[in-house]
Amino acid sequence: MNKGLLSVDEALKVLLDGARPVTQVEEVPTLEAAGRVLARAQRSTMDVPPMDNSAMDGYAVRLSDLKGKNVLKVKQKIMAGSVGKALEPGTAARILTGAPIPPGADAIVMQEYCDAAGEDVTVKKIPEPGEWIRLTGSDVKKGGEILAAGKRLAPQDTGLAASVGIKALPVFRKIRLGLFFTGDELVMPGEPLAPGRIYNSNRFTLRGLGEAFGCELRDYGIVPDTLQATRDVLRKASAECDVVVTSGGVSVGDADYVKPAVEAEGSLLMWKIAMKPGRPLAFGKVGQSSFIGLPGNPVSSFVTFLIFVRPFLLKTQGHTDTAPRTISARADFDWPEPDARREFLRVKWNAQGGLDLYPTQDSAVLTSTAWADGLVDNPAGAAIGKGDTVRFLPYSELYR
Ligand code: AMP
Ligand code: MG
Repeated sequence: MNKGLLSVDEALKVLLDGARPVTQVEEVPTLEAAGRVLARAQRSTMDVPPMDNSAMDGYAVRLSDLKGKNVLKVKQKIMAGSVGKALEPGTAARILTGAPIPPGADAIVMQEYCDAAGEDVTVKKIPEPGEWIRLTGSDVKKGGEILAAGKRLAPQDTGLAASVGIKALPVFRKIRLGLFFTGDELVMPGEPLAPGRIYNSNRFTLRGLGEAFGCELRDYGIVPDTLQATRDVLRKASAECDVVVTSGGVSVGDADYVKPAVEAEGSLLMWKIAMKPGRPLAFGKVGQSSFIGLPGNPVSSFVTFLIFVRPFLLKTQGHTDTAPRTISARADFDWPEPDARREFLRVKWNAQGGLDLYPTQDSAVLTSTAWADGLVDNPAGAAIGKGDTVRFLPYSELYR
């Protein structure tokens, strides 16, 4: 371990221990619940499907009628949404997908295996017992749990809730995420870029991330590099938000006022983390609000958001599953000179199912993050050779 540096896991543990999950629950219409975190497990009060029904367009038959003959009289037609009569011996029912199985029928012959002529249907292939019948409760059993508490609801989760008739869901209230960006050099796109100035790209990246994680955002914009301005916005943001995240000003340079500002308004832990990109990180409390100060460097702030802020926000939101799953993947690149710190390398899936490396891993090159599909989590000092198995953190997993 590097002298004086904290490991990613140590920092993450302190952060997560300090995250307090929201407790306020609100009922929202199931139609609007996607993206929210479910506060209580949901059970079904019904079987799905609620009745035995046909999985195919075809003919409902009684198998015992098909011993020694294969022509049946079609005596009824059952559409989805209607209910047929009991199947008379020796007859078939024309049936459409989703329609209830008539009493007496024990299999469906798909229409591709039937010839219909007038009132008769010829069955060209005898079905297996139960073929193409979806049984009552085969999807969801009455009383069974369909959604666990602490899950962020995906669109298909709301569909599942709706399929058992749940019209509203208990979710945790949205957390308020405050953002501000320190640096006298920052200007917004659309403003003239005077010599020495740069665009405030972190505002776009971090706001987008906050939105992707379902936070209610409060954006306090660019804050000049003075202690007073930093304290003022910090006090306001902390009073209004659950979590305040900032970029820049956490090094120990002349213009770095985040540390003294948080210390003056609350309490702060300053870390140098053994990771690349993204060495400095600040974690503190101001009033009831948590504070996380990210480095200003655009690649570092993006990566440290994903590695630290993401699980912190998830836990604060009431999410129970905060650790991203990694995938073992094949490196189609060499990385012969690893850093002594744990690295998060920007990589992209290739058509052969391996990973390509962005040629410059310099942490000032934001292009690498846009080009990549995710990060390789490379242990400190570990060289990588072509064909090696590495731990891959796809963005798709990090954005869950
Ligand atoms: P700092 O952490 O404030 O020392 O900033 C480190 C580097 O990141 C400097 O080159 C800054 O100009 C740059 N930087 C800081 N904030 C931003 C931002 N919001 N958008 C883009 N670059 C930034
Ligand atoms: Mg700065």
